[in-house]
Amino acid sequence: MEKKQFQAESKRLLELMINSIYSQKEVFLRELISNASDAIDKIYYKALTDDSLTFNQDDYYIKITTNEAERLLTVTDTGIGMTKEELESNLGTIARSGSLAFKNENEKKDGYDIIGQFGVGFYAAFMVADTVTVTSRALGSEEAFRWESEGADGYTIIPAEKAEIGTEIVLKIKDNTEEENYDAYLETHSLQSIIKKYSDFIRYPIKMDITKSKPKDDEADEYVDYVEEETVNSMVPIWRKNKNELTDEDYQNFYQEKHYGFDTPLKHIHTHVDGNISYHAILYIPETMPYDYYSKEYEKGLELYANGVLIMEKCADLLPDHFSFVKGMVDSDDLSLNISREMLQQDRQLNLIAKNINRKIKTALQNMLKNDRETYEKFYHTFGRQLKYGVYSDFGANKADLQDLLLFHSSTENKLVSLAEYVGRMKEDQKYIYYAAGESIERIEKLPQTELVADKGYEILYFTEDVDEFAIRMLMNYDEKEFKSVSSGDLGIDDEADKASAEKETKDNQALFDMMKEALTGKVKDVRISKRLKSHPVCLTADGDISIEMEKILNAMPNNEQIQADKILEINSEHAVFDSLKRALEEDKDKVMLYTNLLYNQALLIEGLPVEDPVAFTNDICKVMD
Ligand code: ADP
Ligand code: MG
Repeated sequence: MEKKQFQAESKRLLELMINSIYSQKEVFLRELISNASDAIDKIYYKALTDDSLTFNQDDYYIKITTNEAERLLTVTDTGIGMTKEELESNLGTIARSGSLAFKNENEKKDGYDIIGQFGVGFYAAFMVADTVTVTSRALGSEEAFRWESEGADGYTIIPAEKAEIGTEIVLKIKDNTEEENYDAYLETHSLQSIIKKYSDFIRYPIKMDITKSKPKDDEADEYVDYVEEETVNSMVPIWRKNKNELTDEDYQNFYQEKHYGFDTPLKHIHTHVDGNISYHAILYIPETMPYDYYSKEYEKGLELYANGVLIMEKCADLLPDHFSFVKGMVDSDDLSLNISREMLQQDRQLNLIAKNINRKIKTALQNMLKNDRETYEKFYHTFGRQLKYGVYSDFGANKADLQDLLLFHSSTENKLVSLAEYVGRMKEDQKYIYYAAGESIERIEKLPQTELVADKGYEILYFTEDVDEFAIRMLMNYDEKEFKSVSSGDLGIDDEADKASAEKETKDNQALFDMMKEALTGKVKDVRISKRLKSHPVCLTADGDISIEMEKILNAMPNNEQIQADKILEINSEHAVFDSLKRALEEDKDKVMLYTNLLYNQALLIEGLPVEDPVAFTNDICKVMD
């Protein structure tokens, strides 16, 4: 028996293949099963045009068996088989794909496609096997041949016996090493899960002999083992089924089966696009947040299938960050895969799909907001924060997409409202969309700064999450209406008379304010009269780009230098404390200092900022009580 050498290049390529192309050894099974499926497909295609051939679905299957004692794993198919010449050319030449040639000769039908194209997948078997033996009998042939190889050294081909048409591939599985547990490829259970993972939607049955146990006779305590042949793959991918035939339960089962989550998703999106690039997708909006969602550990992504075969478990490029909570899968026949079939050769196709998917999710959420408010709010409580991050990040590149998905608590409605709803009921003379930021709704409700705006009957949006104000500043305006913090200097509502009297009062009491400013050097930029206050004596506002809320948030982050808002202490001239201040200026300068410090610390407390020196503050209070 003559041992043939692989061609020189093939030899080097084979070494490379076996050691470096695939990131996981378990994909060898995906490759062998894909080949078996292609081999059956070829008969199916032939039968479409050849009247002497009938394709009886029940006759075609793939069978996986093991022999643990001998360390053998066998993959058998009832496909088209290989002649001696085909064994030689297809398995003896690396990077020669008989399947690609077949594909080019036969038109694609039924939307199904032959999987093979690179002519390397078969050799993945050598990642886990010392010896690979292929016994094959081609369709229309009486004789069979056996191809055998131990890897890079070469292969032999000899005549063999085989009763049925098809191919049988026997792998002599390697012994365990410290790094690798090869035994796994002999265990029914782990083989089953590898099949489920990569080859669940191969459209022919993949059968295995499963050992089960049943009660022996009537004696309930005693069990006996028996073996039953089972089909372990689902075969028909749910995404290729007609939407009308599928129930909510089917989608839920798929969600659980694929381990997208343990919850019951709030919504599923099933879509099929035929165009420049064709694909099927099933996407889910989960109900609950993964425990690691807002952490670095969380990995976004969708499962990516090429022609029903899983090629990537988490394809991150398919999902934008702002929809990173979405789970699901995409299947396309049009992807140009790289040789390991774990990556794509080009991004263009993926980008196209990602763009469509982004739009689909956006529309689905918008519809949910419109038609099923309750569910949307549930969703928003869980993932709304991510949408706001989305508005803020990438310099606002996605803000137009996301702004209509935002909700904020409203002062007048006392519930979550959208920006469109807010703008829709703005008062005629109202120039701005007003907001107030603080730790909680209760706290914002008590902010003195909201008084004037609320008094005017204007609605105020409450920002209670740290990202809110940052997102809104990125948004800048909605429907051409600018956002305005109730704490900002110019509220756009002060009437002229108010303004003039505030200026006059400030001027009349310049000596007092100068003294107060001096007492608060380094703490506030200015002290002035305020007309925004109604019942409260004082408040702190910020001039410039950084609001007081933002200062709090930024300072709470690690490695942030002390970022300071330019604070203004505003005094209500209608309040009794103003008279006390004026009196103190005439009587006792120390008292002005005392009152100033007290008012400043009060304002800090109302804002939720820490009092710098609590002991001095309480001592000051005692002094007033004297
Ligand atoms: P590819 O599947 O990308 O073509 P492979 O290395 O997996 O490359 O297989 C090489 C070729 O060997 C296939 O194209 C096919 O012609 C042939 N082949 C492999 N396995 C089988 C099989 N089970 N039945 C028939 N032909 C097979
Ligand atoms: Mg292949």
